[in-house]
Amino acid sequence: MENEIVGIDLGTTNSLIGVMEAGFPILLADANGVRLTPSVVHFPETGDPLVGTPANRMRAIEPRTTVASAKRLIGLRGEDLAPNESAADYEIVRQAGQPLRIQIRQQQLKPEEVSAWILRKLKADAERALERPVTRAVITVPAYFNDAQRHATKAAGEAAGFVVERIINEPTAAALAYGLDKLKSKSRIAVYDLGGGTFDISILELNDGVFQVLATSGNTRLGGDDVDELLIANCQLPIAKWQKRELVLEAKHRLSTETCVRIDTPFLEGKNFACELTRDELELLARPVVQRTRTHCLRALADAKLTASDLDEIILVGGMTRMPLVRQFVAEIFGREPNISQNPDEAVALGATIQAGILSGAVRDVVLLDVTPLSLGIETFGGLMNVIIPRNSTIPLKAGEMFTTAVPQQRAMKIKVLQGERELAADNWSLGEFELEFEPAPKGVARVGVQFAIDADGILQVLARDTKTGSEKIVSLTSAVDVSDEAVEAMIADSLEHAFEDMSERIWTETRLKSEEMLAAVENAFQLTGEMLPAHQRQMIEEKAQAVRAALENHEEAKLKAANSALDDATQELAALIVEQALQK
Ligand code: AMP
Repeated sequence: MENEIVGIDLGTTNSLIGVMEAGFPILLADANGVRLTPSVVHFPETGDPLVGTPANRMRAIEPRTTVASAKRLIGLRGEDLAPNESAADYEIVRQAGQPLRIQIRQQQLKPEEVSAWILRKLKADAERALERPVTRAVITVPAYFNDAQRHATKAAGEAAGFVVERIINEPTAAALAYGLDKLKSKSRIAVYDLGGGTFDISILELNDGVFQVLATSGNTRLGGDDVDELLIANCQLPIAKWQKRELVLEAKHRLSTETCVRIDTPFLEGKNFACELTRDELELLARPVVQRTRTHCLRALADAKLTASDLDEIILVGGMTRMPLVRQFVAEIFGREPNISQNPDEAVALGATIQAGILSGAVRDVVLLDVTPLSLGIETFGGLMNVIIPRNSTIPLKAGEMFTTAVPQQRAMKIKVLQGERELAADNWSLGEFELEFEPAPKGVARVGVQFAIDADGILQVLARDTKTGSEKIVSLTSAVDVSDEAVEAMIADSLEHAFEDMSERIWTETRLKSEEMLAAVENAFQLTGEMLPAHQRQMIEEKAQAVRAALENHEEAKLKAANSALDDATQELAALIVEQALQK
């Protein structure tokens, strides 16, 4: 496991760590079974800092020594800090030209030192869960992070004892988690990320598996917290603000799946209070907050010089995108339904883990799209499947074979492209067919090269070329790789079940083709040699040919094989005669 690399989403509000296990990205839980670690560190008077949930509890009690959202400060200098950032509950030391510091009692800490405590906890959690040391990591950062912010994040990782193998963009990680690296070679994706405190929109372009960020926009002070503040302000219950915060937060989450919830306060001195909140009421409050993401989306599109219709996918990241209102809003702005197939809280961490797996080599085996799920070939004489690319071949690849004509003066060859594991063409799936015309010639003279090429996206291109004239046709077929697992399983099961009959059918067909070919050749030779062939020989050959015809008619495989070879032997002299004749001419 020394190659193992973990993936880390070092978030503003929450952080996660994951690892590839048996080909799957798995997020790891702490000793309490919780995977989300609040990105909060509390520095007590004595002893080690508290990290995560216990630190989060200290925010209300000891705000001056509890640091949340250190990510907003990492890698910044005094002059970089927006004025409203200094509204943090802890003291930020800002001097022009100097890195920002956080004042905790007599000590001044760099933001990356705070982040390092979070990373240390994640590392310890991972080591406890895996029961082995972990040292190498991939860490995500927002796409807009500059060099200094990326360097500081890397330094945080190193301070926590990691070798930081790569810093990757959060939207890229999210796209990886959605499997979008497998989209067609050039695609464009929008990643709409609305979390607790920040909003980011990124437009990415995927080129042959490599993501490039075309544009980003966002607001580091826009998110679910704003909705929570409005809910708290509207909550009439006679309880403390921090209690209201907990209650409305839970109500907000439940209203993503329910339309009306009851908010109950805990019993205090024998009394409790309750009220109801409907989804409509929540949406009325939340709408202006969500609306503020619109200009950022439009700006990112404009910066990328794209319109919404140029995008192939919209994906959602961040807990707030669970809200139906947000999903509707995104669909409205981009004119299409967003892809919600992944857990929006975990997509970035899963993507970081997948990237880590790609770097360590753990992912190579599971990229199923890299192989052909079923064999590809063409139909040949007698309705047989002629495999050109066997199943499980690694793509991209090219393979080809030479074919000839079965009928004299044939003017065209039909290329029927098949997919499947069965011996007979008719039992396989047809992917398409086309004809290649060529100059008429005696049977077996024309030479047609057929080449199959599958590119990295699984697109199959079939080329057929008449080697005599050089005339050729190329046909592109839809993805030869995109077959559902069930269909592949069914095909393979069928081929196993019918393996015996299929094989005897193939042998029969091949034997039959040989018979037909020999009978035609004998007819032809009789005409060519005419009277030159002694009558007794001619009669002997006629008898052997008759035996072949009889075996063919009665569908007797063993007899046909024997008759074929008897006819073959009997015609040796005939063949010699023809050669002689040709030489004399
Ligand atoms: P993040 O920063 O991505 O962890 O997102 C956190 C934000 O998402 C907070 O404002 C949460 O209240 C909000 N959130 C999490 N789960 C839900 C949910 N089920 N419905 C609505 N908002 C949620």
